[in-house]
Amino acid sequence: MPPRHPRRDGRGGHDLEINPIFSREPLTVPRYALPAGEMEPGTAYQIVHDELMLDGNARLNLATFVSTWAEPESGTLMAECAAKNMIDKDEYPRTAELELRCVHMLARLWHAPDPRRAVGCSTTGSSEAAMLGGLALKRRWRHRRRAAGEPADRPNIVMGVNVQICWEKFADYFEVEPRYVPMEGDRFHLGAAEAVELCDENTIGVVAVLGSTFDGSYEPVAEIAEALDDLERRTGVDVPIHVDGASGAMVAPFLDPDLRWDFRLPRVASVNTSGHKYGLVMPGVGWAVWRDESALPEDLVFRVNYLGGDMPTFALNFSRPGAQVVAQYYNFLRLGFAGYQRVQRTCRDTAVRLASAIGTLGPFALLTDGADLPVFAFRVKDGDAPFNVFDVSAALRERGWLVPAYTFPANRTDLAVLRVVVRNGFSHDLADMLLDDLRRVVPRLEAQREPQHDAAADAGFAHGTEPKRTPVGGKKQDVSEAPAGGRGRSSRSARAGPR
Ligand SMILES: *Cc1c(COP(=O)(O)O)cnc(C)c1O
Repeated sequence: MPPRHPRRDGRGGHDLEINPIFSREPLTVPRYALPAGEMEPGTAYQIVHDELMLDGNARLNLATFVSTWAEPESGTLMAECAAKNMIDKDEYPRTAELELRCVHMLARLWHAPDPRRAVGCSTTGSSEAAMLGGLALKRRWRHRRRAAGEPADRPNIVMGVNVQICWEKFADYFEVEPRYVPMEGDRFHLGAAEAVELCDENTIGVVAVLGSTFDGSYEPVAEIAEALDDLERRTGVDVPIHVDGASGAMVAPFLDPDLRWDFRLPRVASVNTSGHKYGLVMPGVGWAVWRDESALPEDLVFRVNYLGGDMPTFALNFSRPGAQVVAQYYNFLRLGFAGYQRVQRTCRDTAVRLASAIGTLGPFALLTDGADLPVFAFRVKDGDAPFNVFDVSAALRERGWLVPAYTFPANRTDLAVLRVVVRNGFSHDLADMLLDDLRRVVPRLEAQREPQHDAAADAGFAHGTEPKRTPVGGKKQDVSEAPAGGRGRSSRSARAGPR
């Protein structure tokens, strides 16, 4: 729900005092109402600046996948481009050209069979890119069904229950039945056989995640593709794959060049990534690329003016900042293949080393070791320990570290983990400091009589791993009876927490 007017403790209605006290008016301003008059820019700046001082330290935020550091030159370019609107292709043709270059660089990086025929666009992030990827799948499916004279009113999409929340939103907003494959035993992401099991003639696509939000593991895209090839041979049902490479599509090409997850697999129709994750740009840019024009139905594409001609666009927003796109191009130019490889390798080395050290501390067991994404998840080994992962998260928070703890989804809701995301700027040094702090808090936690925190109290810190609102694994779920993500089905606990 949108942020509510927080009136708790009677504080909400009060004015905001300006501190330090300036010797100029005003001395207070309303907190939730537009001030009646103007104030000096210096005063306004100080108020905003002071308010933001209490935000967490971005560099100690091990919860997020999103960039918290960028080179000063990138910041300079972004400031220079603050006025540029990405949609004004005609007014800012050079910015439009840089966007196009980025799309083609990514199409090549992801092995599009003919990169000149690949199509793509920048977005606000992977969420918007996922919506576009999903919409293209849905439209293609509808065209195919209509051409065959078959009904096209019951689309479904198949994915692991570990998908990021954007896919649940896609299914809900665009009325596609989500079919989630649950976790089982030690399988914490989508399995090939399990995915095919849920597919039928109404499946618009399978989403395979390169780099699961829950534990950083890569889903077996090639195996899923093979299983879907087999399904087509057996039944004629042809289901394309969209790869959600929010993180992994900017990691695997540099560190796992032989891993076949991209357009080398003919079944992969489209790929998204977050430019602001391992693309190393500050928040606000994502990318969607389709293998060729046939994967992106022409009737989804709108046209805007471009130097007297017209330029195809596919986006949810109209206006959007151009600065992030420029910063992406800067990074591509600045780092090149070797530079990205070095940054990502450093992250992975740090993650693998830190994970292994945490694994040998004693009380923790690793679920993943940082060898796919530079991300790993670990749990408290002993089920009867006097502390749980939520206690560990809280204890680390006292030292300034933001390490989320959360419960896994169906069918592993018995499992609660902590997750560390290693990003550019999280050095071996910082990793050692985190390890020292972890080492320091463990004896105190072990001396507790019982766990002090629980999942519900910490639900606000799940960071993209909130439980799904829709039922999991229901193959024959009736869309008309159970609208995708229908409000009536949303569980209270799933909605808890100020997200
Ligand atoms: C972060 C993430 C998203 C959402 O990306 P945004 O860029 O934050 O919108 C989607 N999928 C996966 C796998 C992610 O890690």
